[in-house]
Amino acid sequence: MAGKVSRRSLLKGGLAAACTLAASTLPVAASEITDERQQLATLLDIRKCVGCEACVEACAEINSPKHPEPHKPFPKMYPTRVKASDWSDKRDVTDRLTPYNWLSIQHATVEINGEETELTIPRRCMHCVNPPCVKLCPWGAAKQLDNGISRIDADICLGGSKCKKVCPWDIPQRQTGVGLYLDILPSFAGNGVMYKCDRCYDRIADGELPACIEACPEDVQTIGPREEIIKMAHHLAQEINGYIYGENENGGTNTIYVSPVPFEELNRVVTKGKGMPHLEPVRDTMAQANNLAAAMIIAPFAGMAAAAGKIYKRSKE
Ligand code: SF4
Ligand code: SF4
Ligand code: SF4
Repeated sequence: MAGKVSRRSLLKGGLAAACTLAASTLPVAASEITDERQQLATLLDIRKCVGCEACVEACAEINSPKHPEPHKPFPKMYPTRVKASDWSDKRDVTDRLTPYNWLSIQHATVEINGEETELTIPRRCMHCVNPPCVKLCPWGAAKQLDNGISRIDADICLGGSKCKKVCPWDIPQRQTGVGLYLDILPSFAGNGVMYKCDRCYDRIADGELPACIEACPEDVQTIGPREEIIKMAHHLAQEINGYIYGENENGGTNTIYVSPVPFEELNRVVTKGKGMPHLEPVRDTMAQANNLAAAMIIAPFAGMAAAAGKIYKRSKE
């Protein structure tokens, strides 16, 4: 059955450390990724990526039912400094993250053993272990599942972009003219909904692989229990004399990259900017007491918004 959990990109827990590179060929029990209590992480072996963008296409196709269909014209906003963000006529853009493109490929030309080499790096939400986007969302629209996946509930999000502001990689992307704000605060709310990779949480719940992993012809990504993925990353890094990104960034993420060249070097040469995340070292943003205090203050709003979101969802149905 294509895409089911017996595929070789899945890591058999417990055997990973011993088997490292061979691990991607191991079968796995469905319970390994459908077990909601298990923190799931992905390992991306940058050496293997050929930049074919099959993963990008698969992500767009599988997730298209979740993409925004905005109402136009957009309501006029007060204050006017809240600008509309409209990607609905640019759905084909793939060289950066947008509300319609949750995965993009970065290019880096580097020298490896004296030879000029082009590396390609798939970029999407890092799925932080302690995600500031979730903890600091004023409306409780961003959620973290027990298996470590973070996602934004489009029925609750008001598009205020707090999640993007607190994300060290500026991952979530806003589309105007869609969501709850149109019904409750069409001129005053954040004007839209934020979108990002949800690590195909619904496919995982059904025992299927995330679409980008299933589509990759080079088995760049491996998904499995975080502890095993970390062991595997260390083993691989040791074997290729390589470098790890994501184990400790922002206090640890569930997306672990292994590269044959230092990430400082990759970060220097990749195109960075809006929708194009960096590869810098990131301190633990949630370790700051003021952030945690802010999270507690906003908690009551989250309950109110969740209730409004439920009503909105029912009215849509
Ligand atoms: S990378 Fe950004 S959007 Fe993704 S979980 Fe971390 S804080 Fe949230
Ligand atoms: S995990 Fe799913 S949503 Fe995330 S980039 Fe891959 S295909 Fe897209
Ligand atoms: S499908 Fe695989 S090889 Fe192709 S760009 Fe995506 S991760 Fe790289």
